[in-house]
Amino acid sequence: MQNKEIPYKIYLKESEMPKSWYNLRADMKHKPAPLLHPGTGSAIAADELEQVFCKELTEQELDDATTFVPIPQEILNFYRMYRPSPLVRAYCLEERLGTPAKIYYKFEGSNTSGSHKLNSAVAQAYYAKKQGLRGVTTETGAGQWGTALSMACAYFGLDCQVYMVRSSYEQKAFRREVMRTYGASVTPSPSDTTEVGRKILAAHPNTGGSLGCAISEAVERAVSQPGYRYVLGSVLNQVMLHQSVIGLETKAAMDQYGIVPDIIIGSAGGGSNLGGLIAPFMGEKLRGERDYRIVAVEPASCPSLTRGRFAYDFCDTGRICPMAKMYTLGADFIPAPEHAGGLRYHGMSPILSQLYHDGLFEAVSVKQTQVFEAAEYFARVEGILPAPESAHAIRVALDEALKCRETGEEKTILFGLTGTGYFDLKAYEQFHDGRMTDYVPADEELERSFAGLPKQS
Ligand SMILES: *Cc1c(COP(=O)(O)O)cnc(C)c1O
Repeated sequence: MQNKEIPYKIYLKESEMPKSWYNLRADMKHKPAPLLHPGTGSAIAADELEQVFCKELTEQELDDATTFVPIPQEILNFYRMYRPSPLVRAYCLEERLGTPAKIYYKFEGSNTSGSHKLNSAVAQAYYAKKQGLRGVTTETGAGQWGTALSMACAYFGLDCQVYMVRSSYEQKAFRREVMRTYGASVTPSPSDTTEVGRKILAAHPNTGGSLGCAISEAVERAVSQPGYRYVLGSVLNQVMLHQSVIGLETKAAMDQYGIVPDIIIGSAGGGSNLGGLIAPFMGEKLRGERDYRIVAVEPASCPSLTRGRFAYDFCDTGRICPMAKMYTLGADFIPAPEHAGGLRYHGMSPILSQLYHDGLFEAVSVKQTQVFEAAEYFARVEGILPAPESAHAIRVALDEALKCRETGEEKTILFGLTGTGYFDLKAYEQFHDGRMTDYVPADEELERSFAGLPKQS
């Protein structure tokens, strides 16, 4: 029942913005499985995690009971520089498609880092500063996370050391310069600055790297320098918590106009934007208050939900991080160097993995060229140049809207538009020149990688 005329863009007032993050785990009957120590295989203790992560972030990581976590004022202040993000009614897109569907997207790309990752970066930098640390280390794939973290570190006056997947480092030199503008140091990974990097280079001398490798290097650097901790831009429970701000804003804006989505769609790399967007909606679903159809979209080249195993696995190639129970392609899986770098991770958030295992949402995979067709179409109609990662969600939103055109159903579709694609123009160039290919791993390739999964006890 939509009771008011709905504007093109719905912005919350400052006073209406969320003051707490929502911890979806509190409402989950089946909690995500605990992290395990990579050496001993027993549940990891807080003091062990605190050697790698900041103290308060460790607490958030392990807390599956607290429903609402107040957002510290310093973080709220930073959020106000670029939030609320707009919830857009895609009137132009609906008209062009000739669909009776009503399409909405939550646009997270209107900050300089160009994606939703800033929501968690600022939180992680804040807690590191509060703990009195000197700096943080991290990895970045496509560069969005590294950029977001360098902005957050500059704001709080922290040193920021970024390991950037080599293929992106070479393809996206401008991203690197943005990070350096905010004071970060950027090293292509694998590198010879860490033991694990040297080992990986010896085994795969020409590798373009992967997120899994870069994570190992960043963790090694964090634990070998006093006053440093490691921070991660996705997958972890704490990141899902911070990203709930996306869904909370969306839900508040929709409630004001009596809008109820039938379908919620998001791209899934490590799961943080999808987990954040769906959090309050999934909460209602878990509490039996309302049902939603939720769809995760992943690349066919890195299909962790649709073709992965639900098992304990290492989070990094070097096997030094805790093990998580998740949908995974195996920590040895090195995805093809396709262009949605932010989706090229072998695993998936343990929270989303558990929800998926419990049948609470669906997943589909799409091929790169179909994604760029959707990206280009969207850019021409709605004006925004989307990130390739975001265009995975656009692809499925368009397909759902076209189905409504066939059936005449007036469904309400909500999708997450996670970022902009200004640094992805090499990929757009390949697409326009007709040089873009689709890679789909063969079953044998996945089997080889599954063979490296740790033995389940
Ligand atoms: C990193 C990224 C993603 C995917 O990461 P999630 O943790 O799954 O959200 C999606 N879109 C953009 C623009 C990204 O930068």
